[in-house]
Amino acid sequence: PLVLGIETSCDETGVGIVRGHTLLADAIASSVDQHARFGGVVPEVASRAHLEAMGPTVERALADAGVAFTDVDALAVTAGPGLPGALMVGVAAAKAYALSLGKPLYGVNHLAAHVCVDQLEHGPLPKPCVAMLVSGGHSSLLLVPDVAGDVRPLGSTVDDAAGEAFDKVARVLDLGFPGGPVIDRMAREGDPAAIAFPRGKYNDGTYDFSFSGLKTAVARWVEAKERAGEPVPVADVAASFQEAVVDVLTQKALKVCKDNGVDHLLIGGGVAANSRLRALAAERCAAAGVHLRVPRPKLCTDNGAMVAALGSELVASGIGPSDLELPADSSLPVEAVLVP
Ligand code: ATP
Ligand code: MG
Ligand code: FE
Repeated sequence: PLVLGIETSCDETGVGIVRGHTLLADAIASSVDQHARFGGVVPEVASRAHLEAMGPTVERALADAGVAFTDVDALAVTAGPGLPGALMVGVAAAKAYALSLGKPLYGVNHLAAHVCVDQLEHGPLPKPCVAMLVSGGHSSLLLVPDVAGDVRPLGSTVDDAAGEAFDKVARVLDLGFPGGPVIDRMAREGDPAAIAFPRGKYNDGTYDFSFSGLKTAVARWVEAKERAGEPVPVADVAASFQEAVVDVLTQKALKVCKDNGVDHLLIGGGVAANSRLRALAAERCAAAGVHLRVPRPKLCTDNGAMVAALGSELVASGIGPSDLELPADSSLPVEAVLVP
């Protein structure tokens, strides 16, 4: 079936089109530039941008895929979690399209979609697999027996998300927003062993993360340098901070694999675009005999293709569709893959 997916949970208006596991279009309009001067996403600005971008982005996706709107067999939309006003724009648009085309609508979980998107690149997900989801709003470890119907949270961050830590540290270093890509770039020129930043909850036996202590440690270290009138070695700070994050992430992800006897690990979400995370995960998975799957960077950050991918999986599994009255749910729990 041909599935069109709509994503508006944060600052990306994404419209993707898939047929089965085949990606046909992945159109994105981002309002990130409008948020940059505020140092973070402004919900009202994001909602308004979604409203303006929705129609043109749908049209671009249909043109890219070379299909007509009437060819679409089903629609999928991110129902949550995310910014309430932003989600509402996507859900309202998807309902209107579904109603006017007379096609079923699948209101899906954004986090499960971040996991499912890898099927477009690497084929069907092994059952079960472990998924680590690392983004601006989430850092979670999941056991995934079946992405369409059985997603189990094992641990998550107790304070900041991994991407949030990148964004906050970038602010401390005056590198702009979003921080992930620029820290990734700066870190290549720096020494990851230059500064021993703390690794929160490293060996505490849980599957949880904590990044706020690390963020504070970086801020203190930079302040001390500035007070002493010494230059801040930005590349070394970036590299050492990044190393602390990816060290903990990979250590915990492999612990989940080992403890559950699962030898497939998938990493998704915006932070999965990080080059050092990808390299260290590859190294440690190879050493542990775990097969690693990470989608290409463009599929890691928010996009519509991931929503279409999960919609397509649900259609294939015979689960759903949703009721056309379905609500947007800003705090939808990760185990709720489909909103009925
Ligand atoms: P959600 O948490 O609901 O999934 P989100 O808005 O965080 O939504 P994503 O696009 O998945 O959406 O992730 C964005 C985050 O990923 C930002 O915090 C950004 O700094 C981070 N990020 C993007 N690229 C990189 C990178 N190369 N290295 C590290 N972090 C990155
Ligand atoms: Mg974003
Ligand atoms: Fe996301």
